[in-house]
Amino acid sequence: MSTEISLTRTHAPKARPDDASLSFGKVFTDHMFLMDYEEGRGWHDPRVVPYGSFTMDPATSVLHYGQAVFDGLKAFRGPDGKIRLFRAERHARRLNKSCAALCIPEMDADLVRRSFEAIVGVDHEWVPSAPGTSLYIRPTVIATEVMLGVHPAHRYTYFVICSPVGSYYKEGVKPVRILATDKYVRAVAGGLGEAKTAANYAASLAAQRDAERQGYTQVLWLDAIERKAIDEVGTMNIMMQIGDEVITPPLAGTILDGVTRNSILQLLRDWGVKVSERRITIDEVMEAGRNGTLREMWGTGTAAVVSPVGELGYKGEKIVISNGQTGALTQKLYDAIVGIQYGRTNDAHGWTTEVKVPVEA
Ligand SMILES: *Cc1c(COP(=O)(O)O)cnc(C)c1O
Repeated sequence: MSTEISLTRTHAPKARPDDASLSFGKVFTDHMFLMDYEEGRGWHDPRVVPYGSFTMDPATSVLHYGQAVFDGLKAFRGPDGKIRLFRAERHARRLNKSCAALCIPEMDADLVRRSFEAIVGVDHEWVPSAPGTSLYIRPTVIATEVMLGVHPAHRYTYFVICSPVGSYYKEGVKPVRILATDKYVRAVAGGLGEAKTAANYAASLAAQRDAERQGYTQVLWLDAIERKAIDEVGTMNIMMQIGDEVITPPLAGTILDGVTRNSILQLLRDWGVKVSERRITIDEVMEAGRNGTLREMWGTGTAAVVSPVGELGYKGEKIVISNGQTGALTQKLYDAIVGIQYGRTNDAHGWTTEVKVPVEA
C-alpha cells in the first residue's frame, strides 16, 4: 500500500550557509516532514511542510514523562552529484523498535523510509557537497496528548528535520581520550538501553560532564550490575582489537544496535578478520593494554563513523593505545564506510539508496 505524502512548499526559503561554515545541528533546512497519530485513527496525514515551530500545551505528556524516540542518519552528495542515503531501511526499522520499547504505536516502516526520501528530495539543494559534509536527518516521535496521567499517550507526532553538517574530522581522523566510569551507569538489561530515546541521553550528561572535568573527551560505560563489562562509549558503540581478534559487546539488552556497528562487523567479516560479539570486562582490556596486545580501540556511530581511542583511563591508571594515533584498521574501516557513503567505492551490500530529486513544477 502506498500512502501519498502531500507537499506544501515554503514561500520564504532561507539563505543556505556555505559548506565551509557548517558545524553540527545548528541550521535546519526549509521543510520538515510531519505525520500524526490518534487512537482509533492510526498514523495519518504524512506531509512535507515549511519548517517551523510547534505550539504545545504545557501539559503535553512528552514534556513531563519523556515518551520520545529518535533516530539519526545522513544523506551524502557524491562526487557524481548524486544524493545517497546510508542504510535508510535499517534506520526506519530501528525507529520502530525504539517506538515499541516506549509503547509508541509503530509506523509503516516503508513509509518511514519514504519520509526520509521525501524530505531530502524537497530540500535537496541543502545537501552540501564539500568533502566530508552531509545532510543529517533526524526523525523523531513524541507523545502529544495533553494529560498528566502516567500511561502511554493516545496521540503522537512523527517529525523529520534535516541539518546540513560539516565534516566531523576537519583535519583527519583524530583520536579521543576516554574515561571508564564505575560511578555512573547508562542502562540496565530490561531498561531502555536498546532504544534510541531521549531518556538515555539525559541520563548520560552528568557522567560526561565529570569526564570532561577530568580532561577526557568521552565516558566508557560499564555494565550497571558488576560495573565491569564494557557497554558503550559516549553515545557510540565500542570495538577493540586485541591480538588478531576484534571484540565488541553483544546486543544483550543494554546496547543500541548501531547501524555503523552492524556495517563495520559486516566489513570485518568480509575481510576475513576474526570478530567476536562477546562480553569483555574493563579488567581484561586494561590487562591487554599493559601486556601490549591491545592494538586498537574505536567507537562507531553515524556522526563520526569511527572515533579512535588514543587513551583509556580507569581508576587512576592510563593506557595509551596505538601510540595515541589512529590505528591502521580503524582508518581502513573509516575509509571503507565513507567510500560507500559518497558513492566512490562499490556498494557490495546495497547499503545506499539514491534520492531522486523531484522535478520542480
Ligand atoms: C545512535 C547511537 C549509537 C550509534 O548508532 P548508529 O546507528 O551507528 O549511529 C550507539 N549508541 C547509542 C546509545 C546511540 O544512541
